[in-house]
Amino acid sequence: MFEEYSGYRLAGRLALWFSLWAVVGLLVGQLLLLLFAGSLVLLGYHYRHLSRLAHWLWKDRRLTPPHGSGSWEPIFNGIYRLQGKNRRRRSQLARLLSRFREGAEALPDAAVVMGHEGEIAWCNKLAELHLGIHWPQDAGQRIDNLIRYPKFSKYLHNNRYDEPIEMASAASDARLLEIRIMAYGDNQKLLLARDVTRLRQLEQMRRDFVANVSHELKTPLTVLQGYLEIMSMMPAQDEKQVQAMTDQTLRMKGLVDQLLTLSKIEVSTEVDPARRIAMGLLLEQVAEEARAVSAGRHTISVEIDPALDMFGDELQIRSACANLVQNAVNYTPEGGQIRVSWRHREGVGRFEVQDSGEGIAPEHLPRLTERFYRVDRARSRQTGGSGLGLAIVKHALNHHNSHLEIQSVPGEGSTFGFSIPSNLISAQQPARA
Ligand code: ADP
Repeated sequence: MFEEYSGYRLAGRLALWFSLWAVVGLLVGQLLLLLFAGSLVLLGYHYRHLSRLAHWLWKDRRLTPPHGSGSWEPIFNGIYRLQGKNRRRRSQLARLLSRFREGAEALPDAAVVMGHEGEIAWCNKLAELHLGIHWPQDAGQRIDNLIRYPKFSKYLHNNRYDEPIEMASAASDARLLEIRIMAYGDNQKLLLARDVTRLRQLEQMRRDFVANVSHELKTPLTVLQGYLEIMSMMPAQDEKQVQAMTDQTLRMKGLVDQLLTLSKIEVSTEVDPARRIAMGLLLEQVAEEARAVSAGRHTISVEIDPALDMFGDELQIRSACANLVQNAVNYTPEGGQIRVSWRHREGVGRFEVQDSGEGIAPEHLPRLTERFYRVDRARSRQTGGSGLGLAIVKHALNHHNSHLEIQSVPGEGSTFGFSIPSNLISAQQPARA
């Protein structure tokens, strides 16, 4: 059993030591001399142990400390105990680290742990494959020296990692990687790279499929529509049936047109920020079309800042505004009010359509811009709605660094709006003819 540290025991030993010397000193009548001799012996004893400790710390190759006696025993034993504790903690840490590494190796993504400037601290096998890193030879190398894409260097040093970037894999140009960096801890960064080749191929296939099908459906529908028009003029026909067929054909044509618009907007990635859109004219036309659909059932007022124009893709913005205004007409009962406005507000261009219509329950709001999502399918079918309108609005606004904002109170009405950022609006120069 180890002797543990005890302050009382130490003090007791010291008192006993000097008492013995004092008694002998009194007996021989040399108290001070013997106390002095006792102190010298004690000093020698401590000095010897100090020197054994220093020798072990600096010179000795043995891992365990030397044995101590008396008051030095708990000190050497304490060091021995501390060593054992550290050894156990180190092996626990090593086990934990290897478990983490095994976990990171099992990830379906390439993972690289980096320092502040991108110095590689560790990477898994997939990182070697996808990013061309050689482990452990590249340990400490800056990752932007190994991945030589300007887009990647910019992303790494920008220190803004909200959105991932995409780039070709080092293994093959045909493979596409989605790179995401996360900053954590004390200036550490974690890079995750995921192979998104298949995902992007599927997305492209879906887009092509929708665009092709809509395109192929357009021609037979136009032919059908033409024949139906001719049939409706013939006296012998059953008017009701022809009308029903015409209505359904028109509905299908509307759906195909919407699908085509959506796929066109979806594929156009960049809009030209130098193209000026005369918003006054555009919104007057949109309002005029809405008045024609409303046929006097609603009061439609338009409030436009005539000097405020924006830049971007006119077809997309027209589509977005027209969909929002048409929806207000479709979902507002007869006698309702619809207010369209386009104004300068706090440095941005603000577009709003406010209606006094049926409103939308809050649980539907987050899903409204999904394709084919409709609050009330039967009601939407009556209005000729396809459920694609707000999806078109969302994509068109995304391309102009904006997004749709919806406020609605069931039974009272809704406000659909968006803000165009200051770099895409102009309030000074008049629009080119
Ligand atoms: P739809 O072609 O069916 O109108 P949208 O994508 O334009 O499709 O709109 C999706 C759904 O959002 C609609 O079916 C409707 O239920 C709801 N909605 C859109 N605008 C309004 C509005 N102004 N008032 C009430 N509901 C609306």
